[in-house]
This record gives sequence, C-alpha cells and structure tokens, in this order.
Amino acid sequence: MDLGIRGKRALVCAASKGLGRGCAEALAAAGVDLVINARGAEVLTETARAIKEAHGVDVTTVAADITTEAGRAEVLAAAGNVDILVTNAGGPPPGMWTDWSRDDFLRAFDANMLTPIALMQACVPGMIERGWGRVVNITSQSVKAPIPALGLSNTARTGLTGFVAGMSRQVAGKGVIVNNMLPGIHDTDRANALDTKAAEAAGIDLAEARKRREASVPVGRYGTAAEFGATCAFLCSTHAGFIVGQNILLDGGATNATI
Ligand code: NAP
Repeated sequence: MDLGIRGKRALVCAASKGLGRGCAEALAAAGVDLVINARGAEVLTETARAIKEAHGVDVTTVAADITTEAGRAEVLAAAGNVDILVTNAGGPPPGMWTDWSRDDFLRAFDANMLTPIALMQACVPGMIERGWGRVVNITSQSVKAPIPALGLSNTARTGLTGFVAGMSRQVAGKGVIVNNMLPGIHDTDRANALDTKAAEAAGIDLAEARKRREASVPVGRYGTAAEFGATCAFLCSTHAGFIVGQNILLDGGATNATI
C-alpha cells in the first residue's frame, strides 16, 4: 500500500534503538525524510547510516536528552518544520509504590507526560498552518491495564492520554491527526532489562523469565519493532485521517478485555 507520505519530514524521538527505531525505519521505507534523536551519539549515527543506506531518505541526527528543555530545544531547532511527530523516551524504572518520592514522580512526568506535550505544543501549530500533520505518541499497555511495578509509568502516561483525548479533537478539523500507540511486550533492550530484573527477583535465569512472559501473551511471543513501526507508519499515512485520539494497543492479545 502506498502510504501517501513520500517526501514528508518526520521527527522521531528516542529512535536509535527499539520501538522508536522501528517507527523511523517504517517511515523511511515510505519515503519520509527523518530527524532522529537519542542521547548516545554512536548508536544514533550508526542507525542513521543504516536507514539512509536501506531507504535513500535524508536522515538528520541530534544526540540529546529529549526529556530536558535544552535537549528539546536542540532537537526542535534541527527539526524545523515537520509534518510528522513521533514522541518517545525511555520508560521509568520499576519499583514499589511506597518508595516513590515526589522527585521520582516529577522525573516520570517530565519524561513521559510533559515532554510529549511540549513537543506537540512546538510542532502542531506549524502543522495546522500548513493544513496537514500526524502525531503518534508511544505510551504503553499500562495505560489500559496497569502494571503494578511500573506505577510511575502508569501515572505519567495516563496523564498524557487524558491530554491527547482532548487536544486531538481540537486539532483534527485542521488536518492534524493525533493518536497514541500502546506497546505490550516487545523484543527490545527495555524488555530485556525488565526480564533481567524479574529473573533476579524470582531467582531464575533470564531465558526462563522470558519464557514465562512469552507464555502470558496469547500469540506466544514478544512483538517486534518492525511490526510496531509498520502500524506507526500507517497512523502517519494519508489513510489514517479518520482515526482520531485513539489508543492503539499492540500487545499480542495480552490485555484480557472485551473492548
Ligand atoms: P529501548 O529499546 O531501550 O530503546 C530506547 C530508545 O530511546 C533508545 O534509542 C535510547 O537511546 C532512547 N532514549 C531513551 N531515553 C532517552 C532520552 N531521555 N532522550 C532521548 N532518547 C532517549 O526501549 P523501547 O523498548 O523501544 O521502549 C520505548 C518506549 O516504549 C519506552 O518508554 C518504554 O517504556 C515503552 N514501552 C516499551 C515496551 C516494550 O516491551 N519494549 C512495552 C511498553 C512500553 P539512548 O539510550 O542512547 O538515549
């Protein structure tokens, strides 16, 4: 399917690895020029090289922490006018509800709620002026079904979801379509880190921890960054103009809910 976005320009945050990279690759495959970001310059540069080589699009890199004001300013200055925005950042650490301090909550709010909001506030007005835009926020399955150990994530991402629910309807009539993608377990470094912690806590090895988590997913495996990216590219396409303010769950059926 031609996604109808060849020649558009996208900012994909936190995209040197994992789900962000999956989104960047799928957009590049559809002919979209990219600005990609991550903190570590080395992996980011290598990712940009691989994407350019595979798809022949322009890829600009900005090594910066997207959750800081200075980092965002640097990324936004390099990005200029973008037609597509994919927001993403690392997730908060797991823990116990009794241990989280005000500062822990503020860090999670900054990274997973206020950063995507600030990026939308910076990019969407230009999209409105030009009459076309797409935004995808990478959130989490934990918005739909809480993961108790990830309470910082549950809290911050639900706040973002509430913001998008209202804002997406305010901009839809101006040609800008905003949606959220909710990953369940995907095969990335983040999933590996969570499995390592779970293995330590249960006194089992990493392979056994992964096997147990895979068994909790109806499809019997983790999702891939490529599958995730393909859905992102579709939501950024010309075909997705009637999908507004939705929370698209990609979890292999793990969330046991009728709707
Ligand atoms: P990942 O494989 O660890 O990749 C994270 C990417 O984000 C890397 O490129 C990393 O590069 C970059 N990054 C992290 N913090 C950043 C920051 N402050 N500023 C700029 N770039 C940053 O993680 P992932 O699995 O793709 O997860 C992406 C998001 O989805 C996370 O918020 C995660 O919590 C959420 N999620 C993931 C899963 C899953 O199963 N994978 C499930 C639910 C939710 P640098 O380290 O070099 O900055």
